[in-house]
Amino acid sequence: MFPFPDEATRKALDLGRREVFQTYRVLMACELQRLRPVVGALPAGLRRDQLTARLDKVAALAVGTWLQQISERGATMHQAATLFKEVQDSLDGVVPSAVGNPYLVAAVDELKTRIVDVMNDDRNPTHAAVNTAFARLFGSTSSVAKARFAQTVTALQAVLKRTDGRRSGFVCNLSLPDGMGALASGQGDTAIINVGRSALDGTMHLWELAATLAHEGTHILADNPTVDIVYRHRNAAYHLQGQIALQNAANFEQTVCEALGQGGPFPTDEQVAAMRGRTAPRMDSLHTVLASRITRAWVRTYDFTRLDFTRADLPKPVALVLTDLPQDRAYAPLIGAYMEALHAAMFALMRAEGRLVVRVEPKMLNHSTVINSDGTIRFTINSDLAARTPVAQLLHWMLDELVAEAKCQIPKDTAQLLALILGIEKFDRDNVHDVLNDFYDSFH
Ligand SMILES: [Zn+2]
Repeated sequence: MFPFPDEATRKALDLGRREVFQTYRVLMACELQRLRPVVGALPAGLRRDQLTARLDKVAALAVGTWLQQISERGATMHQAATLFKEVQDSLDGVVPSAVGNPYLVAAVDELKTRIVDVMNDDRNPTHAAVNTAFARLFGSTSSVAKARFAQTVTALQAVLKRTDGRRSGFVCNLSLPDGMGALASGQGDTAIINVGRSALDGTMHLWELAATLAHEGTHILADNPTVDIVYRHRNAAYHLQGQIALQNAANFEQTVCEALGQGGPFPTDEQVAAMRGRTAPRMDSLHTVLASRITRAWVRTYDFTRLDFTRADLPKPVALVLTDLPQDRAYAPLIGAYMEALHAAMFALMRAEGRLVVRVEPKMLNHSTVINSDGTIRFTINSDLAARTPVAQLLHWMLDELVAEAKCQIPKDTAQLLALILGIEKFDRDNVHDVLNDFYDSFH
């Protein structure tokens, strides 16, 4: 959320401290970018018009004359924060409740009746299909995966039961990025699952919500909780198998999609075998590596948003790369807001990555990118060039296209972004760091 300037920040603004001012300007653009589509999606009417007018007013401030008047900067930022808060408060009032929410109940029920009950009942007509889904996503560990899946559904039922409309169970969280259904935090009996608007108002398909909840549900298991090594798009989850697949939430999510026959097309058995055996085309594999790195950056920047910067230093990978950011603890609210904007930027990047299609062509000169009318970002590269170019350079080229598409305000360019992503990887959580290293190494 856009922070009200506190005394220290205001003073710094009015004294013309450049990095504080620049950070605020970037945050302003980010918050506008975040709220515009949310307001735009409201039903036509007075409320939408009023909120649009407030956002327009902030947009006008962003280019106003006060930019030259240093002494007006603090007051102007305060005015922007007030307008943003009015918009956010108004949006908070129009969300369906998580308590007894019919969509959440139906989705958990779908997981129980169409997967857990079926996988244990060999007379059920879809028994074979469900088992095949587990085998394709987990291989040698599919029986362990089935047991974990059943535990996950039990855990989700418990989450439903302790949902109280406050801070327990499923918790409505409107600051989840637009389009993200849910996000878990914690493990065991006290875990919560944040749910966004789209999970509560029926915007998501039933199967989509069920798959999302299965994903989040595996994160909150008291024993052997999962992490996000790769997400399910682009079939990335099939690159994992055995023990590492059990550690990755999207493998469970993809199992739901396959078991319910939704969210395909799915790769053939031959393609699954090639992905596992690392014999799939090099550029496809690199795309998976890129996707995984962006995913981890997104996950980790979320962790950064949880830090209390009045007590904690800037996270190392950020401090080393974003040297322009004020590092003084007096600017804790500003740093916190910046982390949220950074996290949102990683999400935008991740969504752009979801639309990236990589093609290799022998007749192509160098490489080029076309944006199709369906939003697909088609990156085509000469086959010889793809074969002899180092991995880091190929990743840089692909990332260039994503940065242009995602219109990231933060970081400032691809080089900085790549440095940040690689830094985040280097300083990832201890238990994930080695797993990731092995995974990335398996592609070279
Ligand atoms: Zn996850």
